[in-house]
Amino acid sequence: MGLTGIEIFKKLPKTNCGECGVPTCLAFAMKLSQGKADLEACPHVSASVKMELSEASLPPIRGVRIGIEESALKIGEETVLFRHDKRFENPPGFAILISDSMKREEIEDKVSQLNTVKFERVGLELKPELVAIKCGSKDKTQFSSVVKTIIDRTKKGIILIEEDVDILQEAVKICKERRPLLYAATAANYETMGRLAKSNNLPLSVKGRDLEELAEITKRLMDMGILDMVIDPGSNNIKRAVEDQTFIRRLALEKTYRPLGFPTITFPCEMTDNPMKEMLYASILVSKYAGIIVLSDLSSHYMFPLLVYRMNIYTDPQRPMTMEQGIYEINGSREDSPVIITTNFSLTYFIVSSEVESSKVPTWLLVMDTEGLSVLTSWAAGKFVPELIASFVKKVGIGNRVSHRKLIIPGYVAQIKGELEEELGGEWEVVVGCREAGDIPAFLQRYATA
Ligand code: SF4
Repeated sequence: MGLTGIEIFKKLPKTNCGECGVPTCLAFAMKLSQGKADLEACPHVSASVKMELSEASLPPIRGVRIGIEESALKIGEETVLFRHDKRFENPPGFAILISDSMKREEIEDKVSQLNTVKFERVGLELKPELVAIKCGSKDKTQFSSVVKTIIDRTKKGIILIEEDVDILQEAVKICKERRPLLYAATAANYETMGRLAKSNNLPLSVKGRDLEELAEITKRLMDMGILDMVIDPGSNNIKRAVEDQTFIRRLALEKTYRPLGFPTITFPCEMTDNPMKEMLYASILVSKYAGIIVLSDLSSHYMFPLLVYRMNIYTDPQRPMTMEQGIYEINGSREDSPVIITTNFSLTYFIVSSEVESSKVPTWLLVMDTEGLSVLTSWAAGKFVPELIASFVKKVGIGNRVSHRKLIIPGYVAQIKGELEEELGGEWEVVVGCREAGDIPAFLQRYATA
C-alpha cells in the first residue's frame, strides 16, 4: 500500500454514511490502508479518486499464481520486511530441479520424490509444490518428451527452464493448460519471450545480471502489458542472494518501486554441491525473501526441517494456531471410555492426541477454546479456570455420551481439582492426570485397567 490511512481519508467523501459496512470514512480508510477492505465497498468515491486509490492500493509486491486448481501456488503480495511487523503472507514454493539430460531412472526417482514427500504437522499437510524442468540437452524434441513424461506423472506446478524461445514454445504447447512459469526472459530475448507468455497468458520469470538490468527488463515487459512476473537477480552465491533479496524487498515496500515489485525465484541448488549447505541456504531464503526455491534433492531428512521451518515463519505471529473447540473421539471411544480435557493450542492438541492414540485406549478428548493458549499459560491468563471449564463441559454435552462422571485434567493444573468439582455441582469426579504428554500412554493404560 503506497498511501497511509490519513492520506486515503483525505480523498474519501467524509460523510460517514456507513454504507461501506464501517461506521466512518476514517475507519474505512484505515482498513483500506491495511489491505483489509475493498475500495468498491464505498459507492460514493468518484471515478478519478477510484483510479488514484486503486493504483495506490495495489500490493507493493504483485501476487503471482503458478499452476491450476488444487496444485496452484500463489506467491508474492508481501507487505512487511519483518514477520513480527504483521505477518508474511504467501509461503515460498519448493521446486525440484530436473534436467532433460538426466537418465530416465533419475528423472523417475525425482518425480517420485516430489509426489511422495509429505508430512503432517499440527493438522497441516507440508509438501513441496513445483517441478522445475530444465532443457539441458538443447534439443527441442528431447525437452518436449521429458516435459510430457513429467506432466503425465505429477499434478504439481511446473517451471519450464530454457531461454531459447523456439525450444520453449514447443514445451508450452504440451503443458500450457497447467499454467507453467516460463523461465526466463533476459535482456537478449525479452521481446519474444514476452510475446510467448502474453499469447498464452502465462507467468514469466525475468532474469537480469544485476538489479539494474532486471528492473530495465521488467519495465519493458510491463510496457508490453505483462504483469505476472517472477524475478531473478542472477544471484549465484548465498551472500549475494541475501543482499539482492533484501534490496528487492526494501525497494518494493519502502519506495513502492514497481519494476522490482514482484516475487522472486532462487536457485540454492546452483550455489553449492554440498546438500547440507544447500538446505541451509534454502532455509535462509525462506526467511529472506524468496518466492520460489529450487532444490536438487527432496529427500525426507532434508525436507522435513525445511518444511517445518517454512510453516513456522509463515504462521501469523499475532494469532496462535488453534483447533476447533469440541469433543474428539480417539481409538474408537465408547460410553465407558476415559474423558480427558485440554486446551485448543494446536501444538498441545496434536501432542496430546498423538500420545492418546499411541496408548491404544479408547478415549474422549475435550478440546476447550482458550484462544490458542497452552495449558499453563491459559490457566495463568484466566482462560482455563474452573468456572469456564465447568461451563464448557456442560455445554459440550459429554455427559450425554458417557456412562460415568470422571474428568481427567492436566497434571499441571492439579490445584483446580477441588474448585472444578464444586463448579460441576459435585456431579463429576475430577482426576489429576500426568504432567508430561509423554506419560499419557502409561497413565491411560493404568487408568483403563484400574
Ligand atoms: S461508504 Fe464511503 S462515504 Fe460512506 S462511510 Fe464508507 S467510506 Fe465514507
